[in-house]
Amino acid sequence: MSEEFLEYDVAVVGAGPAGSNAAYECAKSGYKVIILEEDPVVGVPVQCGEGLSCFALQHLDLKPEDEFVSANISRLRVIFTNGNWMSVHDGGYELDRDKFDQFLVKRATDAGSDLYTSARVIEFNSEEKILKLTYKKKIIFVKAKIIIGADGPKSNIAAWSGLLQKEEWREKLIRAYELKMEGVDVNGFDMYFDVDIAPGGYLWVFQKGDNIANVGIATTAKDSANRLDRFIQQKKIDGKVIGKTAGAIPYKGPLEKTYADGVLIAGDAAGSTNPVFLGGISTAMQTGSLAGKTAVESLEADDYSAGFLSRYQKKWMKLPLADKSLLETAKVMHQFTPEMWEKMGELVGKSDVTNITTLGKLRVVLKAFYPKYWSLIPVVPYMPTVMKAFSITRKWGW
Ligand SMILES: Cc1cc2nc3c(=O)[nH]c(=O)nc-3n(C[C@H](O)[C@H](O)[C@H](O)COP(=O)(O)OP(=O)(O)OC[C@H]3O[C@@H](n4cnc5c(N)ncnc54)[C@H](O)[C@@H]3O)c2cc1C
Repeated sequence: MSEEFLEYDVAVVGAGPAGSNAAYECAKSGYKVIILEEDPVVGVPVQCGEGLSCFALQHLDLKPEDEFVSANISRLRVIFTNGNWMSVHDGGYELDRDKFDQFLVKRATDAGSDLYTSARVIEFNSEEKILKLTYKKKIIFVKAKIIIGADGPKSNIAAWSGLLQKEEWREKLIRAYELKMEGVDVNGFDMYFDVDIAPGGYLWVFQKGDNIANVGIATTAKDSANRLDRFIQQKKIDGKVIGKTAGAIPYKGPLEKTYADGVLIAGDAAGSTNPVFLGGISTAMQTGSLAGKTAVESLEADDYSAGFLSRYQKKWMKLPLADKSLLETAKVMHQFTPEMWEKMGELVGKSDVTNITTLGKLRVVLKAFYPKYWSLIPVVPYMPTVMKAFSITRKWGW
């Protein structure tokens, strides 16, 4: 096997939303950037429900282009076991995730980044900052001043940099399994919280296009495919399966440390997903952008030390989606019994909470003291936290 040696200012591992956004920031500032992606085609295979809030694009000055939006979504509902629901009408997009990832990576290459696909990073010398990869029957070594690990939920870059212990991290990943079904008529994003079928997570039916839906489950239980079938039968979802996907999602908060000498970790690799709704596209884009901007500052200062790069962690910790209320809410929700979920459904009724006033919120809290809701009393102290988490999610994406 022939060998080649390349040198760059920044090497980004992974061409998902985190990696492409990081590369874009560095390349547009004039730095020499390489993106390394193990898949032959960026964005393929799709491992995603493809749902995105409209704010996720707005916050990054991106427009919903026809080339990557598969459906405009006008409603999101959280549905409880007894059929009650609450909805918000903020809107969002069902993406063609492969096209979206390709759009983001093109933005990075148009800005000057080099993209190597079918380029699998197999080793990292963290002392020398040299990546070893296989590429078209060649071994390539890439030396860079800054390495950005945006290599997804099972990040090797984070592990090789001593920031992640694989055994421990596995406990912080939840399994997700999804079917693409034809002949299913759904309006918007429906999320079902049913601890019986999906302990630790939830189920979703997302409008994908005309009569097509992404129907999925994220759960800590092992038999997710059987559980999703059970849900499909229970809800009488009658459609033809035209695709399947699966993957892991970080659901217990971010890595304790997301930087090391010459290294930054972004997106799922850093565990940046929203722990309540498990969405990670928005946070991957945001942490990716911040990692890219920090790399630029580090190149300008010619300082690649962990001390200098620690500012990245300070920046992303200020992101609304890193707010502690999200993790706390997820923990509270996972302790709900089926009965508590039912009561919660009764409490909110079939309601649209898009513009709920402070008085409206207070009314819900007070109602929780009615005798029939007494099983919810332990939750009352957490109500402000839960409401904060929902409002952050609404504004900043899931
Ligand atoms: C079934 C499922 C449904 C989901 N639904 C939603 C949803 O509806 N909405 C939402 O917001 N989020 C959803 N998510 C989560 C979302 O997909 C992720 O949070 C998002 O993709 C994270 O982006 P990223 O750039 O950090 O990582 P990724 O998109 O995972 O990109 C990482 C890239 O790194 C590459 N890579 C990995 N290792 C190497 C290596 N050694 N060498 C080279 N390349 C490498 C991978 O091939 C990949 O392309 C879902 C996840 C799953 C599994």
